[in-house]
Amino acid sequence: MTISRDELYSKLKKFFGFDSFKGNQEEIITHLIGGGDAFVLMPTGGGKSLCYQLPALCLPGTAIVISPLIALMKNQVDALREFVHTDDSTHIAHFLNSSLSKTQIQQVRADLIAGRTKLLYVAPESLTKEENVAMLRSIKISFYAIDEAHCISEWGHDFRPEYRRISETVAQIGKAPIIALTATATPKVQSDIQKNLGMTGARVFKSSFNRPNLYYEIRDKSNAKREIIKFIKENPGKSGIIYCLSRKKVEELAELLNVNGIKARPYHAGLDAATRATNQDDFLMERADVIVATIAFGMGIDKPDVRFVIHYDVPKSLEGYYQETGRAGRDGGEGKCITFYNHKDIQKLEKFMQGKPISEQEIGKQLLLDVVSYAESNQCRRKILLNYFGEDYPQDNCGCCDNCLYPKEQFDGQQQMMYVMDLILSLKENFKTEHLADILAGVSNSVIKSYNHHKHPLYGVGRDRGARFWAAVIRQGLVLHLLDKDIDKYGLINITPKGMEFHKKPYPIMLTQQRTFAECEDDDDETPITRPKPGAAGGGGDPILLTMLKQVREGLSRRLNLPPWIIFADPSLEDMSIFYPITLEELHKCQGVGEGKARKFGAEFIKTIKSYVEENDILRPDDIVVRNVANKSANKIFIIQSIDRKMPFEDICRAKDMDMSELLDEIESIVSSGTRINIDYYIRRAVDMDDMEDIFTYFKEEAHSDSIDEAMRDLGDYDEMEVRLVRIKFISEIGN
Ligand code: ADP
Ligand code: MG
Repeated sequence: MTISRDELYSKLKKFFGFDSFKGNQEEIITHLIGGGDAFVLMPTGGGKSLCYQLPALCLPGTAIVISPLIALMKNQVDALREFVHTDDSTHIAHFLNSSLSKTQIQQVRADLIAGRTKLLYVAPESLTKEENVAMLRSIKISFYAIDEAHCISEWGHDFRPEYRRISETVAQIGKAPIIALTATATPKVQSDIQKNLGMTGARVFKSSFNRPNLYYEIRDKSNAKREIIKFIKENPGKSGIIYCLSRKKVEELAELLNVNGIKARPYHAGLDAATRATNQDDFLMERADVIVATIAFGMGIDKPDVRFVIHYDVPKSLEGYYQETGRAGRDGGEGKCITFYNHKDIQKLEKFMQGKPISEQEIGKQLLLDVVSYAESNQCRRKILLNYFGEDYPQDNCGCCDNCLYPKEQFDGQQQMMYVMDLILSLKENFKTEHLADILAGVSNSVIKSYNHHKHPLYGVGRDRGARFWAAVIRQGLVLHLLDKDIDKYGLINITPKGMEFHKKPYPIMLTQQRTFAECEDDDDETPITRPKPGAAGGGGDPILLTMLKQVREGLSRRLNLPPWIIFADPSLEDMSIFYPITLEELHKCQGVGEGKARKFGAEFIKTIKSYVEENDILRPDDIVVRNVANKSANKIFIIQSIDRKMPFEDICRAKDMDMSELLDEIESIVSSGTRINIDYYIRRAVDMDDMEDIFTYFKEEAHSDSIDEAMRDLGDYDEMEVRLVRIKFISEIGN
């Protein structure tokens, strides 16, 4: 079918209310309406949906839209019905997936057969069902749209085996044009998709993937947690996502951030659906600034003002990386993308692949290698990324990545590149990067020996530089298009025509020195608190200051008529004598000093410390001090939130599989570190009112310390749990 330009624009306006097309939508739509196959590569937010929605509304018959996410399907259909202005939009789009009831399915069928439905969204597993195939055979199909088409390829970051069966099912249902759409596809994935769908002749529509407002940076991962906290504190109020590879890491990091006064929420597939939804909402509604997540987070989320995306762990592929970093700065504003990188993480990821089928391992290894070369490179990151996605970036300096802003030294690599090419040619283009690098660096291992390559004339010519240097030369050769990597053959390196010209008539080429990264330093086991060198004396802190602080505490205790331990416990004073805090902010970072306590009691302490520091010319640790998370406290946030919701303690125990005494331990540690919580709702149930008052008065007026044992002895016949509950109330109310 053909359609005039006027008619197309009037339909665009009529159905969607838009006056013009975005990017190359118009070309794509005209091509599809004309009966051609189309392969659409457009970045997220580029407007892919319209490329099939509008043609579906123009053409006779029903368009079948295959999409992987059941949850999103309903949203899309609802949005479309909302959006499209026709006389009766309820029949115009339907979805078919496992969430529908029998009656609902009947309605869908009725509409389809009556020809009322223009778009049918299906999940791939529903499409392949026999009864659905039979039904779809009986209706007129306008075309097939395959959204998120990278799911077809094993080389995509989101491979779904059921996507592989789409092509045979489509053949059974009946032939019609195909449009495949994705926001992420390397040339390899693209060719996989086209081959698998039998659409190698399709016209390819590719938009630029460049995101000029994103800033890319790779940092050495040796002190990542501290740097993350510092970064977030320097960017107050901005929204950000932090990606980790394991659920455990997500939980730990989220908690560490919270303990350090950053509003963060965890998100991973191990959390129940309700918690996930709450945490996601908190982030979207800006009740939390940061979401710490496994890659499960982010698909289908559209928060336009995410200001940073941090990869705490190295990503498994550049495709995933690009997708994840792509969630920053969708509104065109600031978007900082920072990745922490070290070799140990790479080795960990390689270990995960052990035991998987060989082909999967090879793919995984190759994807990881691309990440390594990206991370270690000194070239413009934007250029490398776009090059990876088959796009040329003409400038040499993008001005918006670490390598462009802080360039590393360059050298003329003409001779080195010649060695590489001589070697490749002598080995008939049959080897991969690492093997070639090993030969040039003179590495002796069993693989080299098995090929007899330790006898090769070029073996060890670059012994002084090491294998990593040579691998880097090869990688830069790839980026300069002098070399090419055969991805179909697991990455064998060959020479391009441009490279052959260079080889015939060499010329100077500037290459960059490699960056060095920590070989194995990982902050997993490191204690995040760095204790600066203690002051004059040995032991923990400054003993003179400690004595002074104790005097301040005594005076305050007398004046306020409060036990000294309630003001600040000894460990808090010790921290002060180590860190010399001179602002409330800093004071708040000492253990046991919550914001409330700092405000209530802090002024005098700060004054004392400040004058002490000035008089004695003390160099204060001015770096950010990171509070540690006690190991056993993984449940604290849950407990605080549950208490906020007035959940009975018994239920909290059940949810976290603890007994009451363990729960009280946790709550005690929460309040004694300065967090204020209100447990009156539970005390009212568990403790007699008169008893409550007696115990409370005891702590206020008689107790010499916070010891429970002492309290039990002094108080006589009370239940330990009652005493503990009231003590929690006391500390929380009076102290915090
Ligand atoms: P993608 O699937 O490529 O990530 P969507 O199809 O979800 O992107 O579209 C992204 C946004 O762009 C949507 O809010 C959509 O309404 C809007 N959009 C699409 N086409 C146009 C257009 N021609 N004019 C204005 N807005 C558009
Ligand atoms: Mg989309």
